[in-house]
Amino acid sequence: MMRSGIGYDLHRLAPGRTLYLGGIEIPHFAGLVGHSDGDALIHALIDAILGAMGEGDVGRLFPDDDPRTEGIRSTTLLRDVCARLRKKKLAVLHADAVVVAERPKLGPHFPEMKKALCPILGLPPDRLGLKAKTNEGLGLIGRGRAIACWAVVLVGRKA
Ligand code: MG
Repeated sequence: MMRSGIGYDLHRLAPGRTLYLGGIEIPHFAGLVGHSDGDALIHALIDAILGAMGEGDVGRLFPDDDPRTEGIRSTTLLRDVCARLRKKKLAVLHADAVVVAERPKLGPHFPEMKKALCPILGLPPDRLGLKAKTNEGLGLIGRGRAIACWAVVLVGRKA
């Protein structure tokens, strides 16, 4: 049995906040606004995994009015979701993601993101795809006011 899942997330960027994306801290003058650390890439991955499990979405599992998850690192949330997956004797077999951000340049950070995310997902580096796109200067993303992420995962029994 194999199941696919899709996830999407967008967070606003605000000056003076720490930018957390893909489980790492990235030097930038602005960071993502959120109840947690705002890591939109991880939130998209979580939604994709939950979608494949048939268990709703990140907002239902971790409500943004819950004081226990205020400022929490999204890597902690991803660990929790992957543990739920293992309980069902399932595993992420492959994940692929697109980050849409005008700046900062994300390509150079992908190896470090993989080092942070692959052990949590239980994947070798070549089974996590990370890609960066700009929005060609258009809209809020193009003006550097927000970052959006898409993710797809394949979930199944671990071979
Ligand atoms: Mg989010």
